[in-house]
Amino acid sequence: MIYRRKIRCTLLEDGSSVDLNYFVVKGRKEKPVLLLNAAIHGEELNGIEVIMRLLEEIDPAKLNGTIYAVPIVNILAYRAGSRAEPRDLEDLNRVFPGKKDGTATERIAYLFFEKFVKKADFGIDLHAGMRGHLLMPHPRVRYTNDYMPPLEPFRALGTEIIFHNEGKKGMLTIEAGKIGKPIVCFEIGEAGRLDEEYIQAGLKGVKNFMKYFGMLEGEPEIPEKQILLKDYLEIKADCPGLFYPFVKPGEVVKKKQALGYIRELPTGKKKIIESPKNSVVIGIRSRPPVRLSTTVAWLMSFEHGEILPQMKKGIKIKSKILAEMEKRKIEIR
Ligand SMILES: [Zn+2]
Repeated sequence: MIYRRKIRCTLLEDGSSVDLNYFVVKGRKEKPVLLLNAAIHGEELNGIEVIMRLLEEIDPAKLNGTIYAVPIVNILAYRAGSRAEPRDLEDLNRVFPGKKDGTATERIAYLFFEKFVKKADFGIDLHAGMRGHLLMPHPRVRYTNDYMPPLEPFRALGTEIIFHNEGKKGMLTIEAGKIGKPIVCFEIGEAGRLDEEYIQAGLKGVKNFMKYFGMLEGEPEIPEKQILLKDYLEIKADCPGLFYPFVKPGEVVKKKQALGYIRELPTGKKKIIESPKNSVVIGIRSRPPVRLSTTVAWLMSFEHGEILPQMKKGIKIKSKILAEMEKRKIEIR
């Protein structure tokens, strides 16, 4: 059975209520409980569509376990078409586990954490790059001084690249992880739009995860080698103008390879932007106008990277990125 429900988070100036809409899919058995959510940042839309498509497709009679699906967590930010709620301007993904008597954003965080995170065994938190940041589909493993997450649920999405970097207090993935609920932050595409390619990649990752943990029939597709990368680089514009990219998210680039150029304004001069290291392009700027220090590319270099041992389950697929690296004589160091 699939049920649609709602739960009240808070009240607004005019007394109208802010309700979190959610779905419960009850399968053949109760456990495990998967939490699927999107739009913690209100303008990140691909994940909403991924959840809706999964709900459209899923046959509860063939599901092992329960799904709690919350397509839009940051309801107020979504209504405003912005990343954060426009009144308190707090980043919902920095205030978990929330506050019972806090701002609207903190109350949404509190309710979400109490009613969904605590009931789940694990989860997938769907995100996208900010407006103008087109991101390749990849999970982000975040850690802090006092918390190092297990890699298995992140790897179960079946992506080739796994991002590993320090996180911040208040992030869902960290605060949930600390209470023993691994929640995978999964980045797909860019805020403010729906992209079929990224929706498909998101849906595939979610299904791989569910197959890996036995919730769906079938074997997940997991690259025989997955690459954990830790060296995150932001390439910034050093002149104003229009950025014209030569590369796409997911491409392997060599040191000194041109990532694109900036048509400097008002002079019209062309300025080539190079990759400082052998890297994979995690994200590329999709909005051409740039100022000084606007980031034009997000890279993960192969320095301090690691090839992870094969996972026990899944159909092993060849890694395209590793094949490309081999062809171009790039090594992980
Ligand atoms: Zn986000």
